[in-house]
Amino acid sequence: MPSTPPAAPSRRQLAVPLGALALFTTGVWGRPDGEAWGVVYDLVLYNAVYLGAAVVCAAAARRSSTERGAWAAMSLAFVLGIAGNVVYTLVVATLDPEPFPSVADAFYLAYYLPLYVALLGLIRTRVPRFHASMWLDGVIGALGGAAVAVSLLLGPALEVTEGDPAAVFTSLAYPMADVLLLAVLVALGSILGLRRDLTVSLLAAGILANLAGDIVFLNLATQGVYVEGGPLDLSWLLGVSLMAGAAHISRPGRRELPDSSLSTRVGWRVLAVPLVCVLASLVVLAAGWGGTFSPVAGWCAIGCVLAALARTAITFREVRAFQEVREQARTDELTGLPNRRALLEDARRVLGTATARHPAALLLLDLDGFKEVNDSLGHHAGDSLLRQVGPRLRGALRGADTLARLGGDEFAVLLPDVALDEAQRTAERLRELLQQPFLVERTRLHVGASIGVSTAPVPAATVSELLRCADVAMYAAKASREGVRVYVPDPHGGTGDRLHTMEELRTALQDGDQLAVHLQPQVDLADGRVVGVEALVRWHHPVRGLLSPAALLPAAEQAGLLRPLADAVLELSLTAAARWWPERRVPVSVNLSAADVTDLDLPAKVTRALDRHGLPAAALTLELVEDTLMADPERGRAVLGELRRLGVRTSIDDYGTGYSSLAYLRHLPADELKLDRSLTLDVGRDPRAAAIVRHTVALAHDLGLTLTAEGVEDADTAAVLARLGCDTAQGYAVARPMPVDALLAWLETPVRLQQL
Ligand code: C2E
Ligand code: MG
Ligand code: MG
Repeated sequence: MPSTPPAAPSRRQLAVPLGALALFTTGVWGRPDGEAWGVVYDLVLYNAVYLGAAVVCAAAARRSSTERGAWAAMSLAFVLGIAGNVVYTLVVATLDPEPFPSVADAFYLAYYLPLYVALLGLIRTRVPRFHASMWLDGVIGALGGAAVAVSLLLGPALEVTEGDPAAVFTSLAYPMADVLLLAVLVALGSILGLRRDLTVSLLAAGILANLAGDIVFLNLATQGVYVEGGPLDLSWLLGVSLMAGAAHISRPGRRELPDSSLSTRVGWRVLAVPLVCVLASLVVLAAGWGGTFSPVAGWCAIGCVLAALARTAITFREVRAFQEVREQARTDELTGLPNRRALLEDARRVLGTATARHPAALLLLDLDGFKEVNDSLGHHAGDSLLRQVGPRLRGALRGADTLARLGGDEFAVLLPDVALDEAQRTAERLRELLQQPFLVERTRLHVGASIGVSTAPVPAATVSELLRCADVAMYAAKASREGVRVYVPDPHGGTGDRLHTMEELRTALQDGDQLAVHLQPQVDLADGRVVGVEALVRWHHPVRGLLSPAALLPAAEQAGLLRPLADAVLELSLTAAARWWPERRVPVSVNLSAADVTDLDLPAKVTRALDRHGLPAAALTLELVEDTLMADPERGRAVLGELRRLGVRTSIDDYGTGYSSLAYLRHLPADELKLDRSLTLDVGRDPRAAAIVRHTVALAHDLGLTLTAEGVEDADTAAVLARLGCDTAQGYAVARPMPVDALLAWLETPVRLQQL
């Protein structure tokens, strides 16, 4: 059954004590003559305030489950007050001489007990968990309050020691009960700290009014000049009404300490009351130095100062523990580097001061081929590699830069106060460092990194934008295999938001003809014959224009659309190939991602597609990056093996960028090896690069693979590559990727390499 919310307190309840208080006030400075009026004021109105307060407290107790005990105790206190008043007015005051102590005093003194219980109860409900420092704050508050109360306010009363022991005891009991009340109240303030808690504030005001009344009463009574029903009585009634007000407005469950964490225990609001208590105690001690020293006050003050010293020690320990916990919460367990939380905190701080003239930059690093290390050598090796990243990169960074591990194989570097070109240089430097081999379990491992760079406040104004921009750039770097990419804001006003792109891509795949392939020919280096054509996906985005794979593949990967995309590209590529196949037997190469290579349905899908277009298996070459096969080598090899049995050629793309060694080639079911541009770029200038190509060619040929050089941009490089033994070339030197119609035209009059 759903629990019903507590009923809102009725205003009428509060009207009784407040009304009675107002009426009583009318008689304070002169009431009508007659004994009956005395009864009306001193018996009826006076006790009506108490009774009304008791009812309000009882109602508060009924409303609340957590503060029930506290308000019930306070209600009981007022009932005891009424009993004392009634007995005093009806019995004690009529006796001559008035006995002291009397039964009324028993009630009056008993009144304090439930009041203490109520105060302690209210502390309890507001502090879910007690720290040692809280107890000490309470002790400091209590002792400090007591020291002040004893020495300044109640000192003289405490020295009354002569006469009837019962009378001495009773007259001492009142001020002591008051001192204790004040001590509990200050302890309450000390524990809860200064905060907006109207219930506690009203309660404190009520108790202080009560105490003030008691103090004045003690002084007047000692001098024998107290008059019942005078203005002094108002202080008690006001106190009672204020306490009733506190009960009336109490809404339990709302004002608990938001979190009793250490951070909330070291703020000034919490320390204010204990601090004042200690200062007051020191004043008490200093004043006592001169002579008029109440030993009780002195001991209270000394106790307060000692408690404060202990509190300082505990605070010191708590702050240190807090710092340690904070550091742990900011540290990545595996690498000991700052973690994502630390990076976000630092980034927020850095962005706070970054300006267009003094921008900040974020580099997002993702290791290439890390998954393969993990998969093939085990998590142990992966962890060991990750641990080496921090020490390796740290030397290339400034002291103020933050190098953090965000999770997995993703790292981030926050660079305060750097311009974009400097940030880019740093990124290049870090990438070079990461390309050097890592020694893991006595194996030299080669991993690279893709790094996205973005700056703030332009183009990213906030931390999340900065992360997003760097993330987009990093994915672009990964897809294009460029290593380092700077975030470039989308000039067409697109959000650059990959989520958005993912949705658009889903639509593009379902309908319309936004997707296309551009085709790039491959020529035989010996005679310039066109021996192949690579299909490269393009997206005619309705708003952002022609998008390259770098913009499209990460979105496809994230959206889980790689397979549908591969299907679409296969379809487009075979449609194109079917247009030239009857005249020239040039196969079309289609790129596969890891998701496709592990697709056990791929061979069947490919067969069906070839059949649909009336093409033989020889019309198709499937390219895959060596790393993609390592995601699930067994399954990948099975799929490739099956495809080759069908007669489809397979090609290892981007060879030289991955992590595998030459020896690994032996196990790859492939027909062709495509040397990545990074290996062929410098063959004309760098003898070492030439040596690598020569040896790779030799090995590829030994294994029965043909060798294609990628990214050949000029005829000189093509010539060198031909000399080194490469079979075919692909690159701008031959032709740029182009739409199908343009390729068909190009095929009619191909530019021969010799002509370049
Ligand atoms: P890739 O398969 O190695 O394709 C060659 C990339 O190099 C193409 O970039 C091409 O435009 C570019 N390129 C060609 N000649 C030169 C040159 O002389 N110099 C330079 N600097 N670059 C040259 P593109 O089209 O941006 O494709 C990038 C990568 O995206 C491809 O690299 C491939 O890994 C992937 N990709 C392309 N289409 C598809 C696809 O349909 N499916 C999948 N899974 N991946 C694709
Ligand atoms: Mg390719
Ligand atoms: Mg390639």
